Amino acid sequence: MSLTQRTLVFICLLLVGLGSSTLGWFQPVDQALKSFRYELASSPASGDIVFVEIDAPSLAEVGVWPWPRSVYADLLDRLMDMGASDVAFDIDFSAASTPAQDAAFAAALDRAGGYARLAAFAQTTASGQLILNTPLPEFARLAEPVLVNVDGDGTALVESFPAFIPGVAIPPLALALAHGAVPRAQSIGIDFAIDLSGVRRISAQDILAGTLDPETVRNRQVVVGASAVELKDNFRVPRFGVLPGALIQIAATETLKADRQIVDASIAPASLVASAALAMLLLLGRRLSLGKLSALGLAVGLALEVVALLALKLDAVVFDTVVVHVMIFAGLAVLMLDERALRWRQSRQQQQRLTYLAHHDAASGALSRQGLIDALAGAGAPTEPYGVVAVQLPRLAQVSATLGNEIAELVAREVTHRLQALGNVLPSRLSTDVFAFVLPVSEKPRLLDCATRTLNEPFLVDGHTVVADPAFGITSSENVYSDSAELLRQAEVALRVARKRRNGIARYEPAMSEQIKSTRLLDLSLRSALDRNELQLMFQPQVCLRTGALIGTEALVRWHNTELGDVSPAQFIPLAEESSLIAQIGNWVISDACHQAASWPWDGRLSVNVSAMQFRHGDLLASVREALASSGFPANRLDIEITESLCAHNDPKTLATLEALRELGCAIALDDFGTGYSSLSYLAKLPVDKIKIDQSFVRGLPSMDSQILLETTVSLGRRLGKTMVAEGIETEEQRAYLERIGCDVGQGYLFGRPGPASDLQFGARAAA
Ligand code: C2E
Ligand code: MG
Ligand code: MG
Repeated sequence: MSLTQRTLVFICLLLVGLGSSTLGWFQPVDQALKSFRYELASSPASGDIVFVEIDAPSLAEVGVWPWPRSVYADLLDRLMDMGASDVAFDIDFSAASTPAQDAAFAAALDRAGGYARLAAFAQTTASGQLILNTPLPEFARLAEPVLVNVDGDGTALVESFPAFIPGVAIPPLALALAHGAVPRAQSIGIDFAIDLSGVRRISAQDILAGTLDPETVRNRQVVVGASAVELKDNFRVPRFGVLPGALIQIAATETLKADRQIVDASIAPASLVASAALAMLLLLGRRLSLGKLSALGLAVGLALEVVALLALKLDAVVFDTVVVHVMIFAGLAVLMLDERALRWRQSRQQQQRLTYLAHHDAASGALSRQGLIDALAGAGAPTEPYGVVAVQLPRLAQVSATLGNEIAELVAREVTHRLQALGNVLPSRLSTDVFAFVLPVSEKPRLLDCATRTLNEPFLVDGHTVVADPAFGITSSENVYSDSAELLRQAEVALRVARKRRNGIARYEPAMSEQIKSTRLLDLSLRSALDRNELQLMFQPQVCLRTGALIGTEALVRWHNTELGDVSPAQFIPLAEESSLIAQIGNWVISDACHQAASWPWDGRLSVNVSAMQFRHGDLLASVREALASSGFPANRLDIEITESLCAHNDPKTLATLEALRELGCAIALDDFGTGYSSLSYLAKLPVDKIKIDQSFVRGLPSMDSQILLETTVSLGRRLGKTMVAEGIETEEQRAYLERIGCDVGQGYLFGRPGPASDLQFGARAAA
């Protein structure tokens, strides 16, 4: 969400929140919090007012209801005799009873000498007419009438009482008892922080029976009222639950006497705080983490509660706070959802990018080998017969060595552009200097002609002129029906022949005798290479990018044949994989590497490459066990390097072997990451401990695509707890960049070329 969108969402939140609060949706929680605050701010009652209650035992004692007026007369006489300073009756005396009874009560009122007060009650009917219930005139003459009205309809919580009622000259009971108190507003808020459990309650029956100690009421004000449930004079109030009406009158009187009239500011302060809190979340949302924002929100909420408590305690002001908590929570929830959505979008983009990069050459933008194979096999595959052309630009390696890798990559990009200009030919890059493209058989002569001409044109890059001198190996799907990978291989075989030809062009023929012969020769020689001791291991240093310390070596096999000279493993390993030779060579490599490494004065790691074929044929687990046992090299220092293609098929036997190797103590490293089936989701599931990012991405630096892949992969790999290794580091700039993005380990010519074990400088910092 943009800042404007967030602002709009927050404004809507605020409006909905304040609206809900005004409608009273948060009322129950607000009331609970208010009661809790009253509890915390609790102060004792004065003890100057006594409640004489007409409770269930009193009702039982007298036996009839309403009580005969002579009973009230008796009660009043006794209270006055005991020295009560005032007696107020919260009892309805508006209707006449028998003349004798009324006369008895009037006589008692007379004896009280003006210190008795009687309840009056004002009511407004639905039509707006005011009805006033007042004591009988003969009583009102002797005792002042006082209003016992409370605010509200009697079902909601009672929190205040009217200071006066328009058109009624009678004062409220509380104002009459609290001599000299002045109302602060039209409604007087009752302070329920005053602890009403401290108000002395006396059963009327004890007074009538004469058993009460007179000291209990001497010089105190008395309110007489009903508390028995059946008399239905009960109201709900904050903190105390349900209270008799007379006790509420006492609470009101205590409030006035203590000068603690409560002012209810309702949601006004909360509206301000909620707006400020949302504005704060809006402004800091981009700068602070969700955790910190939540802590801040919590702090604001707590501070508000403390302020609310102090406002009650010091200033007798109450206000609602729940809307603020709800707004902070909702604001945080919006920010969290927004962040989730953002992360989800980013991870989807990264996944798309990685899928793109797995199928493309980062530096030139051409398809990768896997990308081409997939494109030829997938939904968009050509529908008519097509040819595959492999092109080698031998000068590219020279350009890289003399003018630098960056210029060579610019040439590669230009090669891709020129091939793209031919039309829909799927330009691809198979290795540093070999490209490929496809063309429909029907257009082959024309397009091939264009391709040779355009690639023979000199390349002008960064002020340098490069003549590429290309060679073309061609095959087409009409000769032999084969899959795309096989066609690509055929084109590369033809390319090898083309390189030696003057015109630099060769069409694949099944009987390309030269190639087959040399392959057979290679194959035959390879079979005896082990017996003739022609294989040898080289070790290449792996260093900690942070400290530069040598922390491991990778064993790389070399083959020197007297007739063929040095043959690269990239050439003979694929050949060995076609026969059972790979198992023998593989076993020898593991065993020789462990034996050599066991004798070094060093405790670093040893990394050994293992072919996918060794998992399918031969018993890899047994040969690793045997090599470790016979050499004494510890399993927990051995890394087994596998390639992505091994895992792509999800073969249960392969996965079981990987798990068994890990149980043995070995670590599994995923070699050449980024060139095959790279997928972020599958990375998390693989049983691997290390990820070796392919050298093509390091070579592609500082291109944006390489940076994206490297940064994405390193950060994801580290989050998954994998050790990240970068291959092919040749320059200090590449090393510094990889260190900066958090890559753990580096390998490449910058630190050392593969060489005999005697070249390794144990204990010393690798050259950097
Ligand atoms: P690999 O496992 O990815 O090994 C890294 C290759 O990159 C090695 O090539 C190494 O010499 C080369 N290299 C290292 N640093 C740099 C650098 O800074 N710049 C450049 N341009 N290249 C660098 P090598 O030794 O020719 O091996 C090629 C591949 O052959 C290996 O790739 C590995 O897949 C395979 N291989 C090598 N030895 C064995 C082995 O014993 N068993 C199996 N199964 N495969 C092996
Ligand atoms: Mg390797
Ligand atoms: Mg590699």
